[in-house]
Amino acid sequence: MGRSIWRVFTGNDKIPYMNHKFVINGYGAAFLRIMGCECDRCLTEQSQVNCSASLFSFDDEGNTVHHVLFDAGEGVTNQLTQSPYLKGKQSRLDWICLTHWHPDHTKDFNRLLASHVQGRPVVGLSKEGPVNLYCRSGTADWMWQIHEFELSAFTKVYQSGEFLNPGVLLPPVPLGLPNLTLTPITVSHQNGDMNPLNKHEHRYCCCGYLIESESTTIGVLWDIDSENSWLENPETPEQITAVSRLKNADHIFYDCTFWKEKTTPKNHASFDHVQRYARVLTPKNSWLVHITAHVEWIGNEGFGWTDDDWNRETKRIWKEKGLPGNIGVPQIGQEFDL
Ligand SMILES: [Zn+2]
Ligand SMILES: [Zn+2]
Repeated sequence: MGRSIWRVFTGNDKIPYMNHKFVINGYGAAFLRIMGCECDRCLTEQSQVNCSASLFSFDDEGNTVHHVLFDAGEGVTNQLTQSPYLKGKQSRLDWICLTHWHPDHTKDFNRLLASHVQGRPVVGLSKEGPVNLYCRSGTADWMWQIHEFELSAFTKVYQSGEFLNPGVLLPPVPLGLPNLTLTPITVSHQNGDMNPLNKHEHRYCCCGYLIESESTTIGVLWDIDSENSWLENPETPEQITAVSRLKNADHIFYDCTFWKEKTTPKNHASFDHVQRYARVLTPKNSWLVHITAHVEWIGNEGFGWTDDDWNRETKRIWKEKGLPGNIGVPQIGQEFDL
């Protein structure tokens, strides 16, 4: 277990054709509810969970035979314990694919992995090996600092081993699934892009993901910052390729932390960015995640907005401007077939 270098996966030719589902575990911004805040969003009773999704694969009888988890922030383990696809003997965790190391994407790591291992004798998973963990090398270095115990005890790390600029497709994650490809895409994400060994040094650590089956393409673009202009205006051959693979996707999940673009450079993306990205990428469905409602936005549009407010206002603008496809906020537990 523990550290391992990138290697070529040999596959498993016994695995037959499978159906897959992408299920939302959470879509909340970093801080979820704020203590003492009386905004409409904090006062709703709906559960708030950090951005996370599960990619399940099923055999002919509908049993869960593979589970890839994207990110493991606050509330994710609770959400997984409620998943109909992880009940009893079906419980499994084959891969964790991280977008980056920030706590709102990793803070449930200890509980998730410890509960997974403790569940094994109960659910008969003791023959399964450690959980595979995929992330970019910069994020892996951070994880070894912050979660050394969990990494060495419970995971086998696959790291990309590169320092590439945003907008590059990395080699696919070696899931070994017969009819599904999972390709990391390098992105820029403000102080997520920092060398853990020298915090004054900029180092790209973060990625999104492109999930492609024979019928369906899903793009995961959380967390990203305002310096991902390659999504609107790809320049290098690598960026042109990445944009062409995302183009016309069935679903793209965008970081949409703010309503309006922030004037300070290098902040999270906003709904202004999403509109520009959607014009170029023309997905069938644009989904807004990591939306916040807070603090510096008191009195501004977007402050305290509930999902209903976001849905109403973004749909209005989408229609007014004739933007492509549908727009909206997903729901926890929402399923997307692949
Ligand atoms: Zn985040
Ligand atoms: Zn982040």
